[in-house]
Amino acid sequence: MEERFAFLAEWLDPSAALLRRYQLLYYPKDGSVEMFDMKNQRTFLRRTKFDELHPEDLFVGNRVNVFSRQLNLIGYGDQYTANKLGSKKERTLAMIKPDAVTKIGDIIQMIYDANLIVTKAKMTKLTWKQAADFYMEHQSKSFFNNLVQFVSSGPVIAMELMGDEAVSTWRKVLGPTDSGVAQKDAAHSLRAQFGTDGTKNAGHGSDSLASAARELEFFFPSTAGHGPSNTAKYSDCTCCIIKPHAISEALTGKILKSVIENGFEISALQMFNMDRANAEEFLEVYKGVVAEYTNMVDELCSGPCMALEIHATDAAKVFREFCGPADPEIARHLRPAALRALYGKNKVQNGLHCTDLPEDGILEVQYFFKILDG
Ligand code: GDP
Ligand code: MG
Repeated sequence: MEERFAFLAEWLDPSAALLRRYQLLYYPKDGSVEMFDMKNQRTFLRRTKFDELHPEDLFVGNRVNVFSRQLNLIGYGDQYTANKLGSKKERTLAMIKPDAVTKIGDIIQMIYDANLIVTKAKMTKLTWKQAADFYMEHQSKSFFNNLVQFVSSGPVIAMELMGDEAVSTWRKVLGPTDSGVAQKDAAHSLRAQFGTDGTKNAGHGSDSLASAARELEFFFPSTAGHGPSNTAKYSDCTCCIIKPHAISEALTGKILKSVIENGFEISALQMFNMDRANAEEFLEVYKGVVAEYTNMVDELCSGPCMALEIHATDAAKVFREFCGPADPEIARHLRPAALRALYGKNKVQNGLHCTDLPEDGILEVQYFFKILDG
């Protein structure tokens, strides 16, 4: 019999504000998909080839895009699929400590290179008390005060990473706890490259599945409560959105590295899963003005995006120049070094959105960091 993977998938239908449930089938032989409506007991999508779905994205907990629908994979549909695709997938909490936040571009690239994906991300600044709670297990240790002081001394970036054996894979990327030891024993590790000593060691990784569950809940609470706040300043700033296609093409690290190396300060950073209504509202000013409006909306809600507050003098103007013309083809002719020339594919999938008008910079930053993160 032909190999077939089965999932239970949920889709929030915005027009009816209804959560719809489907059985999603994937046939690796020809990369085709089929969907079955569970409630109405009928075929919803006949078996169709769909090249944009990649087998490595198929695991429970992930969100996939099938013909412009964002589906949450909430369960395995049969034992075969669970055994074959589910056994090794884990989530873990990565925290980039204050000493390595400006290295976030290289670090995200290392995460991708280790075959992990970033499913949540948020820049935050922990208070002394929050940092002490996070490191509760070490409260009796001699280094506790130094550690809490260091981790609350500046912004950190918390991320949920997902992939095969994510807990141990990420700790391997980090390297030995002491950066000095890391430099001797694991020269390519993150702590060897970006850390300094025993305390200032660039990153944190959960040490077990149980710690991962607790630490993910600390930064990204699943129930009531909000978790540590974002770091947006809402002054001298502009808004940049790394678009979903660029995230799924694993360009996030390269883009962030380029932004920082060109002298821009990233003063807030967070990943969002926008729904259609939010994407329409955010892009409203382009409605009836830009021919691609509907496609821009489709793109923005096709998967996770990453919102940045870029802090600089004359931020909107300078950052917009750095992104280059909206059409990557034109950008490649006129400004080959601009971000969109390097990372854009076409006018809709052009790598990133940046604020057009200086007076909209703060408003767009507020849309993400005040309203959507509200
Ligand atoms: P990790 O899981 O590799 O981060 O290591 P631990 O859980 O043992 O310690 C938590 C953090 O405390 C480390 O990442 C270091 O920042 C710090 N730390 C651990 N051990 C020492 C130590 O012996 N001396 C100092 N100064 N800091 C330490
Ligand atoms: Mg630890």
